[in-house]
Amino acid sequence: MVFQCRLLQYIDVNIPFLISLTEHYVKPEDMNAMDRILRVNQRMLSRGFPLREGDILSSGSRSVITCLGDSCRWPRSVDGFVYVPYIISPIYDDMDRITVETGMLDISSATCVKFVPRTHEANFLNIQSKIGCWSYLGMIGGSQTVSLQSPGCMWSGVAAHELMHALGFVHEQSRSDRDHHVSILWENIIENQRHNFKKYETNNLNTAYDYSSVMHYGRYAFSEDGGPTIIPKPDPYTPIGQRDGPSLTDIHKINILYNCGRYSSY
Ligand SMILES: [Zn+2]
Repeated sequence: MVFQCRLLQYIDVNIPFLISLTEHYVKPEDMNAMDRILRVNQRMLSRGFPLREGDILSSGSRSVITCLGDSCRWPRSVDGFVYVPYIISPIYDDMDRITVETGMLDISSATCVKFVPRTHEANFLNIQSKIGCWSYLGMIGGSQTVSLQSPGCMWSGVAAHELMHALGFVHEQSRSDRDHHVSILWENIIENQRHNFKKYETNNLNTAYDYSSVMHYGRYAFSEDGGPTIIPKPDPYTPIGQRDGPSLTDIHKINILYNCGRYSSY
């Protein structure tokens, strides 16, 4: 309820529309999951709505930076699996529900993380069609909203992206070692959105930098005038990001973070 009041407050403020439209630079058929998310969230961002890196909501008590490793993981059950309870808004139609459930299945079918309808659990995901596609980072306790706006966010890759935030993962290009793998073209980024390109002291779980992560920004994220903002190196033509769902390395990282071991079905 607090969130809704704050949202109305931001919408009422007449701030100039500052976010360039990603779709001007990227054809819809080429958009990755993050491109689609930014396309939906751009009006919120242009009005100063407090989403870090475009789609992460701060819990107030925890910053993106401090949510590492054990501090925000969902607990492991005695049977070795990690059950993430959820409730889902009744306003979604059947296709929407299938889309969200496909995003869940793309994670749970290859890891020990299982999304299960909530019965009595105190901590759970509350999947709602609010304005925008966004999530908190990791488990914050109690009911935590994952917003998947319908229409707009109804892609299984977008659902998987937001669910991975809820599992504790930040964007791939936020990694501490990202400068070895991509160049950030600061001059091409909208000036008041440059904070979205910070890198953090992340636990990279001994995994290689993953250009194909569903958590990777697109090449033109937050572009001021259509110039690229992220370029892979050494090969600038390496595709970055994708929209189908978690990459093999994304799955691998979930299995490592949650110590899935033999409980992984991958
Ligand atoms: Zn994101």
